[in-house]
Amino acid sequence: MSVIDVERFREALVDERRRVEAAIENIHTDHPGSIRDETGEDAVYDIHLAATATETYDRELDYTLEENSEHVLAEIDAALKRIEEGTYGVCTNCAQPIPEERLEALPWATLCIDCQRERERR
Ligand SMILES: [Zn+2]
Repeated sequence: MSVIDVERFREALVDERRRVEAAIENIHTDHPGSIRDETGEDAVYDIHLAATATETYDRELDYTLEENSEHVLAEIDAALKRIEEGTYGVCTNCAQPIPEERLEALPWATLCIDCQRERERR
């Protein structure tokens, strides 16, 4: 039914999951304040940028990286579950297909861009 190459995104998600897990490990063995200078930093930082809108970015920096990483991990797991269920790539709010380029930027996106913007406005 879907025209999206789900396998490609599954691979991206599994890949990303591994990176986030490594990043969480890093946090546990390192001081959160110095993580940006470490090798695992890129993973956390990239995800953070992709997952949050610019206006919420500064505020979200106050949250611990661990919290963010574990949140992303849960999002990835949920996305993998949606792949299993065949609902991947469909907006959970309006049931419209999520554009592939959005999924490329954020493979675990649950909302289309319109719904995401709508939610952030509140
Ligand atoms: Zn939507």
